[in-house]
Amino acid sequence: MDKEKILLNKNNRTYNSKSYLNDLLRQVDNIQNDPKKEKRLKDHLCTVCMYTPFMHTADIKRKTCANDGCVEEFYGSSVGGNKYCTKCSENYNQCVYCGGDMDLKQRKISSGKKNDPV
Ligand SMILES: [Zn+2]
Ligand SMILES: [Zn+2]
Repeated sequence: MDKEKILLNKNNRTYNSKSYLNDLLRQVDNIQNDPKKEKRLKDHLCTVCMYTPFMHTADIKRKTCANDGCVEEFYGSSVGGNKYCTKCSENYNQCVYCGGDMDLKQRKISSGKKNDPV
């Protein structure tokens, strides 16, 4: 057993974990401060999906909106990528990526619309 090698590896892993932690902290900071709000709203994304890394693939295919009964089609990557259409995003204040609320609010079912009280 090469103790020095083990310790060196351990240092590398610690370094990786710490940079991962820094990434997470930066993401949390961005989620709370929303520095790219204008772009985020233009892309119909909630803060969580805007500031955490997406799974992107180059593979783009035609998809149908994941909302029940919605037949709206759009192009997106087949793995990950947006699942909901921008019309539903506008109608229900919904993130096109995760389908959650744009303002991360859980609203009464009878009032899914943007400006209704929670
Ligand atoms: Zn839709
Ligand atoms: Zn989202």
